[in-house]
Amino acid sequence: MASTIKVTETLAYCTSCKMDLNHTVVAMKGDRIIKVQCRTCKKEHSYKAPKNVNDPAAAPPKKTRATKEQKAAQSTPVEVEWSKLMAAHESSETRSYSAKSSFALADKVKHPTFGEGIVNKLIYPNKVEVIFQTDVKILIHAGEAR
Ligand SMILES: [Zn+2]
Repeated sequence: MASTIKVTETLAYCTSCKMDLNHTVVAMKGDRIIKVQCRTCKKEHSYKAPKNVNDPAAAPPKKTRATKEQKAAQSTPVEVEWSKLMAAHESSETRSYSAKSSFALADKVKHPTFGEGIVNKLIYPNKVEVIFQTDVKILIHAGEAR
């Protein structure tokens, strides 16, 4: 028999299973594999060279985790303080922030941009330091409540 040897099975990247798997060759052009059928999910798709993705060591490093941890570490001190204060003053009335209102220590403030916060410090004569979930802000108010 002098005919060319036909490849009937090949390792290819399955676009459905998202890993390298054995595929049955469905169509060839010359000696190039055009179409394959996944032996695992039985799907036919165009041939994709193996990507070695079934090997975790070869997978590209994931940056998302480190970034998330960094972000969490940055926001933690304020957020912890905020949670503590919010819990301590759970029963306090929440007032919408306005520069025309007077705020007292431990007042809960609802700010359109920063969300809910707690007045942590009064700064004479007309500023308050408010701890929000993600940040500490100095806000203007109408002055000490009388
Ligand atoms: Zn598959």
